Amino acid sequence: LPRQPAAPPLLALDIGGTLIKLVYTASCGGGGAELRFAKFERRRMQECFDFVRAQGLVHRNGSTMGSSKENIALKASGGGAYKYTEDFREKLGVCLDKVDEMDSVVSGANFLLQSVPGAAFTHMNGKKSSVDISPNNLFPYLLVNIGSGVSILKVTGNRKFERVTGTHIGGGTMFGLAKLLTGCKSYDEFLQLSQKGDNFVLDLIVKDICGELVCQKQGLSTSTLASSFGKVITSKKKLTDYRPEDLASTLLSAFTYNIAQISFLVASILHLRRVFFGGSYIRGHKSTMQNISYAIDFWSQSKMQAVFLQHEGYLGALGALMSYGD
Ligand code: ADP
Repeated sequence: LPRQPAAPPLLALDIGGTLIKLVYTASCGGGGAELRFAKFERRRMQECFDFVRAQGLVHRNGSTMGSSKENIALKASGGGAYKYTEDFREKLGVCLDKVDEMDSVVSGANFLLQSVPGAAFTHMNGKKSSVDISPNNLFPYLLVNIGSGVSILKVTGNRKFERVTGTHIGGGTMFGLAKLLTGCKSYDEFLQLSQKGDNFVLDLIVKDICGELVCQKQGLSTSTLASSFGKVITSKKKLTDYRPEDLASTLLSAFTYNIAQISFLVASILHLRRVFFGGSYIRGHKSTMQNISYAIDFWSQSKMQAVFLQHEGYLGALGALMSYGD
């Protein structure tokens, strides 16, 4: 028999406020296909175009590999799919077939949860444990997608969801402030700095206000955060007197606890016990997951659980890829 031609690769994009995420298929041994992931800063879009060409994900004439001319649209989610339509047409010769952003995020999360064993895990007390998801105990759940901003969705089934609320104080806000305050050049550098820092240099804790003795008498935890950055007010230090490491650590804990607390409140109002977190903000970073888990556990008195996902930054792009089957 003549050899079957390899399946043409599929490519889908999620063009967000900060990052362009790509999910694409590549053939692997045994005739199967595997999923691959790549991301680019949106301000460096040319790198994304070069990558797509170098990987052979589109032909020079613009058509996706192996597909006919009338099928040269790439599924794309995220606001940038509208804004950068022309750039993709000019540079890659492809048109973007827009898919709804929230629809994609939910499809991506449901795909990971239903089809990828071990994709969901908890991160408590330094321990990562995978969560068994069976189709009959998955829904309903709360999905918190932490990107440049934060979207909070109630998911009740496949393609069944409601965007309940969100907050504009998200990853973009934190990373923006981090660039101004610490001079960091990249998100990974920011995370590394935060790892070496001590947030108690800038954060006001309950003990600082009440004194250790009163805290002990009233049974208050001495290390509970009272006010992020609160110590700065009474200090004579200037910005340059603070270590970038300590500033980074304070920023990460302030934003992470805040987003976790909002998530807890929304889950409480909706009577949901399981909260899944996605978005590139998390970036597989241990202390981010640790702090989210701690906050959800603390506020819910252990009634709710924070669950994380592998490939958490690619939910929208995965969902867009799924939509080729529609
Ligand atoms: P969006 O779709 O809005 O771009 P993402 O889910 O991609 O959102 O998350 C973007 C956020 O993730 C940034 O605001 C920042 O907090 C964080 N982040 C993770 N990796 C990077 C990176 N390489 N460059 C910039 N921000 C990053």
